[in-house]
Amino acid sequence: MVTERSGAERRRDADGDGCVFCRIAAGTAPATTVYEDDTLCAFLDIRPIARGHTLVIPKRHAGTLDDLDTALGTRLFSLGHRLAKALRRSALGADGANLLLNDGRSAFQTVHHVHLHVVPRHNGDIRTFTTGFLFRGRVGRRPDPAATAAAIRAGLDRLDAEAPTTPSDTEDKEPHA
Ligand SMILES: [Zn+2]
Repeated sequence: MVTERSGAERRRDADGDGCVFCRIAAGTAPATTVYEDDTLCAFLDIRPIARGHTLVIPKRHAGTLDDLDTALGTRLFSLGHRLAKALRRSALGADGANLLLNDGRSAFQTVHHVHLHVVPRHNGDIRTFTTGFLFRGRVGRRPDPAATAAAIRAGLDRLDAEAPTTPSDTEDKEPHA
């Protein structure tokens, strides 16, 4: 079922007017960036469930999955996948990760610009995770965002170092008939 949306809401969906994540993508709102390329941006959640909680967004505004190009959605998840692996290889020492995308207000999407949460997890962290989930960065020690982002970037570098192959390398390794 398609719900009625006001003209203002449709315009906002199309161009992202007043959208805080569009401003972050454009560099006009502050954020601690972990990764950036032509189409995607990853930055630390300002209300982290756990240290290293990162959001991955498309730079071009898309309010919900309904508005998101499917190829871009694939890239979005692919970066979330890489970040989950990087967190394991980072000084944050994650044992796992929760990847979560809340699509639509009914699903508790609070910022109307598609974003994928990547939340590092540690074995036996249920208590600190639950506290983090309930209070979202309002209790406990506030981790240093710059050091946290640097640790994740170092994890990405380690991940890249593990797989230095390029498409041409792969071709070379394929058996020739
Ligand atoms: Zn936006």
